[in-house]
Amino acid sequence: MLQNKVIVLGGGLAGLVSALHLAKKGIPVTVIEKNQYPKHKVCGEYISNEVLPYLQSLGFNPLVFQAKKITHFTLTTSNNKTLETQLPLGGFGISRYTLDFELAKKAKEIGVEIIEDTVVDVHFEKDSFTVQTKRNKKYSAAIVIGAYGKRSNLDVNLERGFIKKTSPFLAVKAHYRGDFPEDQVSLYNFKGGYCGVSKIENDHINICYIASYNSFKKYKNIDDFQSNIISKNKPLQTILEHSELVFSKPLTISQISFAKKNPVENHILFCGDTAGLIHPLCGNGMAMAIHAAKIASEQIVDYFNGKIQSRVQLEKTYELEWRKAFEKRLGMGRRLSILFRMNYFSEFITLGLQLFPWILPLIIRRTHGKYLSPLK
Ligand SMILES: Cc1cc2nc3c(=O)[nH]c(=O)nc-3n(C[C@H](O)[C@H](O)[C@H](O)COP(=O)(O)OP(=O)(O)OC[C@H]3O[C@@H](n4cnc5c(N)ncnc54)[C@H](O)[C@@H]3O)c2cc1C
Repeated sequence: MLQNKVIVLGGGLAGLVSALHLAKKGIPVTVIEKNQYPKHKVCGEYISNEVLPYLQSLGFNPLVFQAKKITHFTLTTSNNKTLETQLPLGGFGISRYTLDFELAKKAKEIGVEIIEDTVVDVHFEKDSFTVQTKRNKKYSAAIVIGAYGKRSNLDVNLERGFIKKTSPFLAVKAHYRGDFPEDQVSLYNFKGGYCGVSKIENDHINICYIASYNSFKKYKNIDDFQSNIISKNKPLQTILEHSELVFSKPLTISQISFAKKNPVENHILFCGDTAGLIHPLCGNGMAMAIHAAKIASEQIVDYFNGKIQSRVQLEKTYELEWRKAFEKRLGMGRRLSILFRMNYFSEFITLGLQLFPWILPLIIRRTHGKYLSPLK
């Protein structure tokens, strides 16, 4: 059996960032990722600047890959009212195709082992993990980080509570050629969903929407749904009409769950969506995945250098720090998602903003964090 100090399950954002952090601190890391890089992913592709100094300190600067600097936010409600605000910290637009690929490249450069395989099971016994893959390989590790995204076969095997519940959301994403302000991220609300639009590194426009099954199921396909429901949001309809699809067809995902999860289960430290997914409406899931990877890596470094003296203490401190960083944000995201599911979102936000114009910046602040400190 092969021995490693840390195994990371899943090489998305949380997985690759934790691997980079740990490798920079001299800890041997193996990442097991089921997909080949590069690969497109359903995501809004807007990242809050709160993670920029930290990413740069890991040796990864998204601006080198022509990520677009984003400073403005607009929201167009389903009754076609547009509201605008400056983003307190701002952010950047970069495709997951480039981001994950370049992070994986960087991780390999500094010695991270990346294995292309699907993890099928994890066992913890006698203070050590055994990770089993689809290709029938077994790996052992002192620490396992679970960073395999929002929903996986592994959640079934690990008997995680949330996996038994079905989720009423699906999402669609594609890249387009067309005109859209470079410095802007926009949300367009429609009945049963909303769509995010922003530019990415190669001047393409990323258009990504999330919708409830209830609103989608009446229509035969994506085109039918877009021409009957999404077209009711006039500014969004104008963008779609004047843009040319770059993908052969849009990507789709289903079963997007915002259910509560635990950051530690079966002694595995969960990061990113595996620990909890914030509603994409908040545009902060990627920053949270990166932030969680930082928290887990810092605790693991302390565990290996003896500052944290036992596994029990490691698990307790990670859970505490994770909850301190994200519980309020996740709660706010969940409340927003309830309004949005009940189709009250537009009415709430339009009325709220007319009466209290500071609500939009407040929501942004409540669902985002502060700048993360760079790696020391
Ligand atoms: C519709 C939508 C729009 C969004 N828009 C935004 C946005 O604009 N801004 C933002 O900040 N966030 C956004 N998010 C959230 C963001 O995409 C996630 O929070 C982020 O990708 C989480 O990163 P992660 O590393 O936890 O998971 P992922 O990036 O999903 O990585 C998980 C990795 O694990 C791998 N994996 C899974 N199972 C296994 C297995 N068994 N074995 C091996 N590997 C495995 C997967 O292939 C994947 O590479 C959006 C989410 C959705 C659904």
